[in-house]
Amino acid sequence: MAQTHILGYPRIGARRELKRAQEAYWKGEIDQRALLAVGAQVRAQNWQAQQAAGLAFTTVGDFAWYDQVLNHSLMFGVVPERFTAGAADNQLDQYFRLARGRAPSGEPVAASAMTKWFDTNYHYLVPEFTADQQFELDAEWLLAEVKEAQSLGHSVKPVIIGPLTYLWLGRGVENALDLLPRLLPCYVELLKQLANAAAQWVQIDEPILGLDLQENWREAFAPTYEILAEASGSKLLLTTYFSPLRENLETAFALPVDGVHIDAVRAPEEIMPAAAVLRKDQVLSVGVINGRNVWRTDLAHWQAELLPVAKHLGERLWLSASCSLLHTPVDLETEAALANADKQKLAYSRQKLDELQLLQRALKPGAPALAAIAKTESRSEADVREELVSTWRAQTYPERAAVQSARWQLPLLPTTTIGSFPQTDALREVRRQFRNQEISQSDYDAHLRAEIAEVIRRQEILGLDVLVHGEAERNDMVEYFGEQLDGFIHTGNGWVQSYGSRCVKPPIIAGDISRPSAMTVRWSEYAQSLSKKPVKGMLTGPVTILNWSFPREDVPRAVSCLQIAKALRQEVQDLEAAGIGIIQIDEPALREGVPLRESGHKDYFDWAVGCFRYTCSRVQPETQIHTHMCYSNFNAIMDAIVALDADVITIESARSDLRLLQAFAGEGGGYPNEIGPGIYDIHSPNVPERAELVNRLYQLLEVIPVEKLWVNPDCGLKTRNWAEVGSALLNMVEATRTVRAEI
Ligand code: GLN
Ligand code: ZN
Repeated sequence: MAQTHILGYPRIGARRELKRAQEAYWKGEIDQRALLAVGAQVRAQNWQAQQAAGLAFTTVGDFAWYDQVLNHSLMFGVVPERFTAGAADNQLDQYFRLARGRAPSGEPVAASAMTKWFDTNYHYLVPEFTADQQFELDAEWLLAEVKEAQSLGHSVKPVIIGPLTYLWLGRGVENALDLLPRLLPCYVELLKQLANAAAQWVQIDEPILGLDLQENWREAFAPTYEILAEASGSKLLLTTYFSPLRENLETAFALPVDGVHIDAVRAPEEIMPAAAVLRKDQVLSVGVINGRNVWRTDLAHWQAELLPVAKHLGERLWLSASCSLLHTPVDLETEAALANADKQKLAYSRQKLDELQLLQRALKPGAPALAAIAKTESRSEADVREELVSTWRAQTYPERAAVQSARWQLPLLPTTTIGSFPQTDALREVRRQFRNQEISQSDYDAHLRAEIAEVIRRQEILGLDVLVHGEAERNDMVEYFGEQLDGFIHTGNGWVQSYGSRCVKPPIIAGDISRPSAMTVRWSEYAQSLSKKPVKGMLTGPVTILNWSFPREDVPRAVSCLQIAKALRQEVQDLEAAGIGIIQIDEPALREGVPLRESGHKDYFDWAVGCFRYTCSRVQPETQIHTHMCYSNFNAIMDAIVALDADVITIESARSDLRLLQAFAGEGGGYPNEIGPGIYDIHSPNVPERAELVNRLYQLLEVIPVEKLWVNPDCGLKTRNWAEVGSALLNMVEATRTVRAEI
């Protein structure tokens, strides 16, 4: 009979208990003992859920107080020097200092860098290596958790990140592979300790096997795993996920490991090739339950697909989710308000455990065939592609720029902001009252109108050139649109960890998307009525709405994206008709949808760029389209950004040096339209000095022609307070005036 297991489970707790406890601890509201108790409780619940679903093993080591990569950095002694001075007086606080720069004890310090975990919206803490990096094993936390689980009666499978993936994730040295010989002894020792702790199996994650690996990285696998296998007293399960193995498949299966896990959701075509190369002493773990989405699995499909494999492999077939369930909400049972019809289509992590059990039973000889999930009819991808071709504005940028500048008569170096203004406690309170029906729709609207009027008034006083309405009506830039579009399901508790204690609650795309009525027009129209200066209409782009939602599984992503683009195009048309002449369509998530493998890039950019262009394909030449992205390293996606052909793009750049801007100024012609590289960092509470901003502007003018340069902050201002925002923007406007007068 096939065995079941998972690669990892979410650690936020079914009701985000861990998040609450962490934040309370950081604020000094609870002590460390109380925090530790909540962590232990979450772990116990997670393990219990796995045992109750009859999994062969309980996976241990996937818990983290902040991040699993940071767990490993501390386990191997990878602690950058700046953390030694002013160290905290206990280990957990020191851990939090590395994670977030501060903890209840120890001096504040610059936190570790954070970046996205492969193509997910989870952020890990980047290991910082030095050329003379030394490693020293201290696996105390992992061994303690193994013991803790064993004492609760679990048959434990510890999980660790493999040495090659761990090194690949780090920064600070030119070739991280050079550090491998020094790191390996720690892994050898670690495997010995885990075997001593009676771990029958150890799971080693090497997701980089799903990437376009350089030769030297691929070649490092065999000798590395020779050493690990030799040392290990436990059996080793090598796991890969998020991407097909392709040219790395042979490498993975030839390693001296006792089993290999593949992501059969991302690469169903690799099940057969994998089964074919599997050695007689190896197990094949197939991840068929999607760890990246919330839909119930079509178990009938997998029953049919896997029956021959199960017959052939027997106990050597393991069933699992495609990747760790970290990327899925915890428990559907906590969704009190969700319609039953919707609930029946969904599976969160706990329900996915049940699915594994059902599938296991369905693969027993003689098991009855499972009922298939009904499929919906939708438009084919080919139709979509066809529609995306040749939907773009009739005029070229230079033609548009001429009419736009005649219409707007903006000064050189026009000043603007990215959209949101501070979301104050008062505003949140009003929103809460409205949600709980303590105030009426008209009261709520009156509050928002007052807020908009205030935001416009302040911008007028500051002397900004292109204004915004401030986005007071939005709690989240995707949820706000998802709530107004048909085709989305909104959950009450569908939280997924984004980083540390931060969680996101992506809406679920459940069907064909359409726009029943205008979503932003009345607010923009009202804001514009208060000023003679242009007020930007503010939309979230189709690619970002798609990438920050759980997508459908029954149609390609391109189909949903085009549907969103269509809805947004109607909105753009309505804004234009209402007299809004500058419309910003934010696409901060364009980059994170880029496939992990180069071979998928062209296809993605074709439809993603096509959908963005579609949203503004019908506007008049004198309507100015802006877009915004919250990062500055565009090298890999520069062509796509140029292809968006927005009249103006605002980007993050204050925290990066000017080299990153070279892409925009760059040799290949750079960015041909107008550009506003953020001139100060909105993530920090520090108010930038005027002189500093003047300098920055001159630096920018060295790479960007003056007639193309806009002046704006890095990103939206909603997380800041008014005192900071007021002074920072005043300095920004003053600095711009200084430079205008001098050039
Ligand atoms: N317009 C949005 C805002 O200002 C953009 C947010 C973002 O880029 N993430 O808040
Ligand atoms: Zn931004």
